[in-house]
Parts: sequence; structure tokens; C-alpha cells
Amino acid sequence: MKTIYMDNNATTRVAREVLEEMLPYFTDYYGNPSSMHAFGGEVGKKIAEAREKTAALINASPDEIIFTSCGTESDSTAIYAALQSNPGKKHIVTTRVEHPAIKNLCEHLAKNGYRISWVPVDKKGNLDIDYLYDHMTEDTAIVSVMWANNETGVIFPIEQIAEAAAERGIAFHTDAVQTVGKIPVDVKAAGGLRMLSFSGHKIHAPKGVAALYVRKGTKFAPFLIGGHQERGRRGGTENVSSIIGLGKAAELAIRNLGEETGRVSALRDKLEKNLLENIPNTLLNGNREHRLPNTSSLSFEYVEGESILLMMDQLGICASSGSACTSGSLEPSHVLRAMGVPFTAAHGSIRFSLSIYNTEEEVDFVSQQMPPLIDRLRQMSPFWKQGASCKAQ
Ligand code: PLP
Repeated sequence: MKTIYMDNNATTRVAREVLEEMLPYFTDYYGNPSSMHAFGGEVGKKIAEAREKTAALINASPDEIIFTSCGTESDSTAIYAALQSNPGKKHIVTTRVEHPAIKNLCEHLAKNGYRISWVPVDKKGNLDIDYLYDHMTEDTAIVSVMWANNETGVIFPIEQIAEAAAERGIAFHTDAVQTVGKIPVDVKAAGGLRMLSFSGHKIHAPKGVAALYVRKGTKFAPFLIGGHQERGRRGGTENVSSIIGLGKAAELAIRNLGEETGRVSALRDKLEKNLLENIPNTLLNGNREHRLPNTSSLSFEYVEGESILLMMDQLGICASSGSACTSGSLEPSHVLRAMGVPFTAAHGSIRFSLSIYNTEEEVDFVSQQMPPLIDRLRQMSPFWKQGASCKAQ
């Protein structure tokens, strides 16, 4: 059975060109870039090249890039750097729809003496900007707002928010893990932005490598304290081959940002239109206009996301649901709850996230398979049969 992979916001296939670029650095050029000998030095030069390519993807300077192990590490590094650089400040502003990399970290910090302001979103997943501005205070150590949401793809006005934070002298970080490589990101144009996280495995580089952009002049303290790697900003011997892979993936992403992104967006639109038109009681989650080009979050009312995913899996179709099985009960995701998506719809939400490797044939296949699949599940659903609504919940 052929796999149809439409779960690219979870992770992506490593591009063949990326893998080829990486391979010699496992077996032939395996020196330590910090070594004094030329064998290691050659590896150091290749890392410098990867840093340039990675920086170019977001229009940063190479020395503003710190390589890390994952988006989560980049996010933690940014938040802790701001807290340590402003020891007197005990307040953080973030949103209700962040990825757990920020959400759970802030919840942890809330138990350890920090005050968190959680910015709400409306039904379409748009941020309450007034709330955000009203909650930036003299005590705020950092404002952290994701650039685009991983579940709905909704894009936030980061340049504007970063500017507002800068005017108040507050450090601003954005989790751009889902954004970089999907839409143009220019840190020079977003002048108020001080730190930005992105991750290799979302852009066809391997898992286990990511980057944190730190604008020159930003107060910074390392999260991983150790050797002098990354100019003292992140200890630990570099994940050489993966960093080289990230550099190559960044180069490919720059190349694909125009035409290929347009193709992916057209495929997403076709899939979405087919499903919305051919499956009754299907709703789109999030702002249709300000969205990542590859993401579609749809709710199929009166059916459970997990059941849909299982049946899709039998057909070889991979996607994600907007609910998670916690302690035996299916809980809609915190993102859909924050948006106030009704219970009946939030439970049946599926995220399709496409990449440059998806084809029109795949979109046609999924479009054909989904209507009978949802219909079969609905025939088993007591809510659908009764036409009942549990909106009260
Ligand atoms: N932030 C966002 C918005 C994400 O979507 C993810 C991963 O899905 C992360 C952070 C965490 O990235 P990583 O898996 O590289 O730790």
C-alpha cells in the first residue's frame, strides 16, 4: 500500500539532496570541528557554510544563528535567556495557542514564581492584540508569540507585535518552527524581533537539529552550559552532519519558496474545497486568509478524530487529529478549545499538512476516499443519528 503523507507539520521527509550532503560527514569527514588539526578544521569550514545558508533563509547574519538540537530547545533557550538577563522581572506574555514547547514551559515557570499572561484568540484563531498590548508591563521579561499556529496554520502579525514590544523595551521571541520555509521570513524587516526559533525536521532536514536566531546586541545567557561551541552560547559538540543537512535544507527552502509553495497551496486549496463541498457538516478551523499555505484544519461534526485517523490509516493516508487521548478520554486540543470550537466539531478535527512531495493524484485520492469514510463513521455515531448537539459542553 502506498503511503500518502499529509502530516508535514508533524515532521517531513529528509530531502534526498540533504541526505547526500550529510553522508560524507559520518564516515569520511568525521573530525571534531573544534580540533586543532586540519581534519577537524575542514568540518568547521563546512559548518560555517551551513550557518551562512541557514541564516540566509531568514535574512540573518551567520553569527546570529545558534544551532540547537530541536525547536523545543531553541524555545527554552530563548525564554531562559530573557529570564536570566532580566532577573528582577517576573512576568511573561504568551498566547493560549502556543505549542507545548512554550505552553508547558510557561506553565512550569508559573509554578516557580513567574506570572504568565495568556493572550486569547477569537473563533478564527486571531490574536486579541489589544489584550496583548495591555499586558506588556514594566515587569515583563519576555513576550513570546508563535509566528504561525501548528494546528490551524493561522499566521500572527509578528512584525507589528515585535515592534510594540521593542517600543516598550521588552525582549520579543517568536516560535517560527512552522513558519520558516513555508512563507518568507525576514528578521531584518521585523526589526523589533530579538529571538526566533526554527527546526530542521519541519523543512526536510533530519530530526535532532534546529536553530535559534538571536539578534546582535540581545542580552543572552546560554541554556546548555559547557564548551565554547557556538561562541559560548550553546555547549556541546556540534551535530555536524545534521547541521550540514539543515544548511542544505535551508538552501532548498529558499529555492522552493516561490513557485513550489504556490503549487502546495493550490493542492491544499483543492483538497479543502473538495472536502468542504462533498462532506456535509464540515467546518474549516481558523482564518482562511492569514494561513500557512500547506495547512488545513477541518472539523467533521459528530465523529471522533481518532476514529477518522484510524480509518485513514487503513488506506495509507497520514494526517493528525486536533484531539489527544488523555486519561482514557478524548480531549479537544487546547488550540481548538481556545478558539471556542464547539465540542461536536472539535472532536472530529483533522489537520492535513502538505509538502512539496505531495501530488495532485494524492489529493484526488484523499478527496474520493474521505466522503464515504466520514459517512460510514457517522452511521455509527449516536449524535449523528439523533442529529443531536452537545454544544452545551
Ligand atoms: N513549536 C512549534 C510551533 C511546533 O510545531 C513544534 C513541533 O511540532 C515545536 C515547537 C517543537 O519542535 P521540535 O519538534 O523540533 O522540538
